[in-house]
Amino acid sequence: MSIQIVNNYINGEWVRSESDTTLDVHNPATGEVIAKVPVSTDADVDRAVKAAKEAFWEWRTTPPYTRARAMFRLKAVLEEYFEDIARTVVQENGKTIDEARGEVRRAIENVEIASAIPALMTGYNLEDVSQGIDEEALIQPLGVFFCIAPFNFPAMVPFWFMPYAVATGNTYIIKPSEQTPITQTRIFEYLEEADLPPGVVNLVHGDKTTAQALLEHPDVVGVSFVGSTPVAKIVYKTAAEYGKRAQCQGGAKNALVVMPDAVMERTVAAIITSAFGNAGQRCLAGSIVLAVGDAYEPLKEQLVAGAAGLKVGNGLDPSTQMGPVISARAKERILGYIEQGLQAGARLLLDGRTVKVPDHPNGYFVGPTIFDEVTPDMSIAREEIFGPVLSIIRVDSFEQALEVIDSIPYGNAASLFTTSGKLAREFKYRVKAGNIGINIGIAAPIASFPFAGMKDSFFGDLHGQGMDAINFFTDRKVVISRWF
Ligand code: NAD
Repeated sequence: MSIQIVNNYINGEWVRSESDTTLDVHNPATGEVIAKVPVSTDADVDRAVKAAKEAFWEWRTTPPYTRARAMFRLKAVLEEYFEDIARTVVQENGKTIDEARGEVRRAIENVEIASAIPALMTGYNLEDVSQGIDEEALIQPLGVFFCIAPFNFPAMVPFWFMPYAVATGNTYIIKPSEQTPITQTRIFEYLEEADLPPGVVNLVHGDKTTAQALLEHPDVVGVSFVGSTPVAKIVYKTAAEYGKRAQCQGGAKNALVVMPDAVMERTVAAIITSAFGNAGQRCLAGSIVLAVGDAYEPLKEQLVAGAAGLKVGNGLDPSTQMGPVISARAKERILGYIEQGLQAGARLLLDGRTVKVPDHPNGYFVGPTIFDEVTPDMSIAREEIFGPVLSIIRVDSFEQALEVIDSIPYGNAASLFTTSGKLAREFKYRVKAGNIGINIGIAAPIASFPFAGMKDSFFGDLHGQGMDAINFFTDRKVVISRWF
């Protein structure tokens, strides 16, 4: 069977990249190469930006109600092909089919919110700012935007941005992760049926060189980045250098604090889903548990019992509860962290290195792994592992838990499990994280709420999704008028 090279989608047409360089795309459950992705060149990028720039004026002058109807059509095709998109996510990313369905649903929800654009992008005015003089603020789109996406949510992440950019009257380019380029390719095949004018949405495949070419292109207005912190910093800096708007979402190290008064059974279930869902490859994954006082013993025991029972396997098998990690390299990195934890003196309560998936000997599987006796200075407690590894740190008090959270450089999410309203209030008031869970293990904002972190998890000001996205993709122009 010949391996298909995924194509770019530019100006309403499928086009082969000019590049001779391709990268292999693997099914992480089997290790098989399932496609090849081109590393699109500067010329490919220029072609896409030109198409998007040329489409901009007509799209910008299209009434918002008409643009909203394009969102309705987009929603309809995503609903129609929902299952196929979800299965594609599993094949190239490895997550379970239910997790994939969840992310496609989240992508669609963003289209739903963006379809309210006639109500959401209204400006404002004030009569008589001085006698007979009126002032108004117009909300206007800006031009060509693009996103650089990570591998872990190949369907959803570009939809934190694209529907809002397009509904507000901009034109758009998506550059998916080179590890998971097939999902957006499928989505664009279906998106053709939504009948958007050519050039309004474009797809350009590639790696960091392609992303760099987009960042440096003079006709691009802004970038939405989601990925690791070192790259988020590079993209933020480069965007500033080239005078572009930027919102750059980086990595994470999320803490889950458990008080002795927590409802233990529900807490354990929430922590297991948080730490091991998506094989720990979620920017909102809990990766350290701060067990306060007497919470420690029962929590430790129940976490190990619960995690040990998770069925690891191919995500397309509906009985699978945890899929593989994305690549052989990712697996190696995760095993490296487990080794570092052991070297530093942490104790392995559950060792995921020994997991076997007999049907898939070449898959990139790591089983659920739990470390105990972890201290806040260890690399497994401070660095993003991005795999199914959970570290338990024992602390004496709520205050001590907050100190540990403060010392972590990341600030994407943090959760507290308690029955105390007072502590819950303290937690959400004081913790520096963009997403706070109170008895919630994965504090993922729905589409009408902003999504981003704090500290080293985010560089920028306006977040993805909802009104923040609308503000990111528009400018406010003030008009002051007097009629003689
Ligand atoms: P990554 O940083 O390796 O790659 C992300 C994207 O950046 C890819 O499209 C890649 O081609 C591109 N890229 C790589 N180097 C670049 C460079 N020098 N210049 C420009 N672009 C470059 O991330 P990943 O491994 O695909 O995704 C996992 C990471 O994403 C984790 O750190 C995770 O926490 C993070 N993430 C964060 C959020 C969030 O909301 N904060 C959401 C999802 C994932």
